[in-house]
Amino acid sequence: MDHCATLSGMNAPEKLFHMLLGLGDEWQIAELEFDKDSGEVRVRINEQSNLLSQQRCPDDGGEVGIYDHGREREWRHLNVFEHKCFIQARLPRVRCRTCGKVFQVKAPWEGLSMHFTASFEAMVLLLMREMPVKKVAEFVGVSDTRLWRVLARHVAEAYRQLDFSASTCIGVDELASRKGHNYVTVFADLLEKRVLFAVPGKDSATWNAFAQEFEKHAGDMKQIDCVSMDMSRPFKKGAAENCPQAEIVFDKYHLIAKANKAVGDTRRAEIRHGGHYDDLKKTRWIWLKNPENLTEKQAKRLEQIDQENLVTAQAYQMRLCLQDIYNLQDVERAERRLMAWCRWVRQKAKQTRYGLLSHMVKVAQCVEDHFAGILKHWEHRITNAYMEGMNNMFQMVKRRARGYRNEQNFIMMIYFIGSKLQLPVTAIHSK
Ligand SMILES: [Zn+2]
Repeated sequence: MDHCATLSGMNAPEKLFHMLLGLGDEWQIAELEFDKDSGEVRVRINEQSNLLSQQRCPDDGGEVGIYDHGREREWRHLNVFEHKCFIQARLPRVRCRTCGKVFQVKAPWEGLSMHFTASFEAMVLLLMREMPVKKVAEFVGVSDTRLWRVLARHVAEAYRQLDFSASTCIGVDELASRKGHNYVTVFADLLEKRVLFAVPGKDSATWNAFAQEFEKHAGDMKQIDCVSMDMSRPFKKGAAENCPQAEIVFDKYHLIAKANKAVGDTRRAEIRHGGHYDDLKKTRWIWLKNPENLTEKQAKRLEQIDQENLVTAQAYQMRLCLQDIYNLQDVERAERRLMAWCRWVRQKAKQTRYGLLSHMVKVAQCVEDHFAGILKHWEHRITNAYMEGMNNMFQMVKRRARGYRNEQNFIMMIYFIGSKLQLPVTAIHSK
């Protein structure tokens, strides 16, 4: 058999490696070497003459002849037992007999990046899903720069293939990338629960960038009929300019966060105006939580406080009530309760000294200004769970990207974790 003839030049270990690597008879293991000092295994591979008969010119399909050999290259492969393993080869270059074009033959083991085999890349991609890139780099013994490059090639290629033509319901949120100094705005499909686009900044220009990318992926901004986001001016402007037909849903998550912050501001103001320092000291974290989430110690602390006379305690109750409204199923009841809530906050504020409830009044004002958009929550219920889920995803992105070298890496990690990409990419499609 032809097959056996090709392999006959190899000894048993070479034949075994040939089989394990899944190579066809157009490749031959020329040499196997184990370096005891470095503990590394090297596998040298040559092409066989029948390789040429399988190659065709990418331009005209013409037959090819050998032209020359490229430089010596080395690819890191999966370990052999605990030993690092490298594949070495000089890949042939061939020339088309019809048009004369010269091109490099692709080897079946090649990955998307220069230094690794496809199997090795698949393994590190798997590890990078579970651990920070830096950790993976230490674990497999390559530099994290090279791993980021593997990630970049795979993510870019898989992302390029995404189709947004069915995305109609979009969530927008911003993520602080480095200790609150840089922001990345993230656009997600709330029904498919995947990230569509991430871009540095949090101004309305992020929306223009999104619109451009959306259309590159067969999306049409006119197909978007619902956008869930916070109430920031730039986002409102961007949405109005880029998809004026979409209904805007101001999401629960951001409104509650606003109310939470207002409670904290109220506490600070009350401390500043004196008189209640003893009641309020060491309570900052208590007011951020729901009663059922308090630790035993915190619950005890809350009991000790004379809540009757504390404006902060009132603000806290207001936040809990607002949150409670979101438990209602019925939109009309929710509407009545929201209106009543705003009236209640304003009335209490009038009776409160030093304008201590002014931060809560601002929240009430915000609710009134965005009333229709806030009520849309009850129409588009499903969207909100994911907006909260997005925040969890952001935390995971931050952990995985720890020590990332630049913002592009950070954005890549967002796609890697959040975009449901088909990975690893096995072949580059023609551009
Ligand atoms: Zn040709």
